[in-house]
Order: sequence, then C-alpha cells, then structure tokens
Amino acid sequence: MRTANPKRCSCCSRAAQYSVACIVSVLGISPRQQKCSRVFLLCAQCIREVSTSASAAEVSSELRNALKDAYTALNCRSASDSASLNKKSE
Ligand SMILES: [Zn+2]
Repeated sequence: MRTANPKRCSCCSRAAQYSVACIVSVLGISPRQQKCSRVFLLCAQCIREVSTSASAAEVSSELRNALKDAYTALNCRSASDSASLNKKSE
C-alpha cells in the first residue's frame, strides 16, 4: 500500500529513502545504559553525501544535533538515577 504523503528528507525536499538514528551507549557500567537518538530521514543523495563528504554541513548538523540530544538525555537519566539511589540510601 502506497502512502499518499511520502516522508521527506530532513535536509532537502526530496522523498526520503532512509531513516537514520544514533545509539549512544555508556561502556563499563552494568546494566548498560544506552539512548537512541531521534530518527531523522534522508534521501539517497544526502545519505551518500554525509557518508562520503565532510562538507555536507546541513546533514552533519542534523546528525550532530541528534547525537547531542541522545547524549544529553542519557546524561540526565544517569544523573537522576544516581540522585534517586542516593535518596534511597539515606
Ligand atoms: Zn536529501
């Protein structure tokens, strides 16, 4: 079934063909803490640009923002986890 409203690339107006997400994991602690970034959509041309060219500034900033959000969320969660652990031990 074809959708009437195809998804659009996050960086240009072409139809998206790929969804991309970053997973940030903290190593060396158990249970493993990891956070998946929000998904953003790329067309074939943009995903080729970001994987082959360092000058794909617009795509790179999308990727960096998604990564930053995931990292921030992970840091916030581990901070609040240790805060609640401290409260329990009081
Ligand atoms: Zn694109």
